[in-house]
Amino acid sequence: MSDLAPAAVQGSHQELALPVRCMSCGATHDGNHPITTCPECSGLLDALIDTSRSLRPDAFAATPGTFSATSGVWRFAPLLPAIPAEAIVTRWEGNTPLYADPRLASYAGMDGGQIHVKHEGHNPTGSFKDRGMTVAVSHARAIGSALVACASTGNTSASLASYAAAANLPALVLIPEGKISTGKLAQTIALGALVVQVEGDFDIALRLLRDLTADGSVYLANSVNPFRPEGQKTIVFELLDQLDWQAPDVIALPGGNLGNTAAFGKALGEAYETGLIDRLPRIATIQAAGAAPFAAWYASGFDRYEPVKAETVATAIRIGDPASADRARRCIERTSGWVVSVTDNEILEAKAHIDRIGIGCEPASAASLAGVRALVASGEIATDASVVCVLTGNLLKDPDAIADYHLGGDETRRSANRPVSIPATMDALKRVVDDAIRG
Ligand SMILES: *Cc1c(COP(=O)(O)O)cnc(C)c1O
Ligand SMILES: [Zn+2]
Repeated sequence: MSDLAPAAVQGSHQELALPVRCMSCGATHDGNHPITTCPECSGLLDALIDTSRSLRPDAFAATPGTFSATSGVWRFAPLLPAIPAEAIVTRWEGNTPLYADPRLASYAGMDGGQIHVKHEGHNPTGSFKDRGMTVAVSHARAIGSALVACASTGNTSASLASYAAAANLPALVLIPEGKISTGKLAQTIALGALVVQVEGDFDIALRLLRDLTADGSVYLANSVNPFRPEGQKTIVFELLDQLDWQAPDVIALPGGNLGNTAAFGKALGEAYETGLIDRLPRIATIQAAGAAPFAAWYASGFDRYEPVKAETVATAIRIGDPASADRARRCIERTSGWVVSVTDNEILEAKAHIDRIGIGCEPASAASLAGVRALVASGEIATDASVVCVLTGNLLKDPDAIADYHLGGDETRRSANRPVSIPATMDALKRVVDDAIRG
């Protein structure tokens, strides 16, 4: 399965099949073997993409009979690493809807503006992680890895399990014991990954796995891997395409390990440098108040960084020491973006609102809307702005959070939708129906 051309001499990256560059020391290396940090300084790596040419939107036209026709990731191949077609593992990922609903704008306090939501919960395993995973697992196949692995708060593991199974590769998943949602754990088990529950939190699990995979014998599929963010860039390319390459004013997304924020910054840079867009939207990264080391770092003018012990209802962003903080910082600085935190209550109210209008998402996803609402209230986002909120995961990922909110009996839950119980009589049923019609 190693179909790549033999590695060229290191240093002249034009000759390397899959060049990666260290974001700390700037050295270029060949990504045609397992590599997740710079061999010289241990810095994180970025895949090198040629942005010296200009591109027009028709460069991404779907060609029948190729992956570009079925995959919302591989359609953007001109801005992705050149992984050989024979190695590609794809499950029709991407191609997710971009919804607009005036009720969302109104909830955020932007009656004159527009909010779109980009729903990544429509991906095959129900989260945006599939976009990164098609690239990472294809890379693992291209370089002949025997085992792929990740540490996960749930969605990465479900996605890795799925793509590894599709590629017929074994998958190893480290999860923090008792800290991931039932829906995500069920998915990962059903899809056949070897699940190892670690006593400790996500940050500890990721550190363990990074040590295990340092010698390259096991393929590390977390977003510190330079190939995974490449797939996640296509969230931005696709939403820009859906907006006819008219950049919105703001793109808001939840931030946990910050791989996605980093990927968004890289995507916007590449779209801008190749002339696809003529201005950069501002990125708003939203963290949960109980897991907000990046928001605190931003608030200090990127002066003092302190990891935290993370706690939040939004398990997908319950991360206290984000691995991609430095890369994400570049994105925020380059786009003059913001990093803010919102409380669990604000997340759950925003989620109830997104759910109630028929769209639905998991708790972490709703942080994006809650954060936009906060940024509008503080005057940072104009009420007539155009905003895209990225809904990172599907409604059914976390049924326990839904039950707690709606059925938990907490009277402060303003949008709680409690089922009604009746005796099995027509009278009782008619009373309920009459009440519903009267509203
Ligand atoms: C992974 C994930 C996030 C956080 O993304 P990072 O790249 O870790 O910042 C947010 N929401 C959902 C649903 C996720 O699965
Ligand atoms: Zn380096």
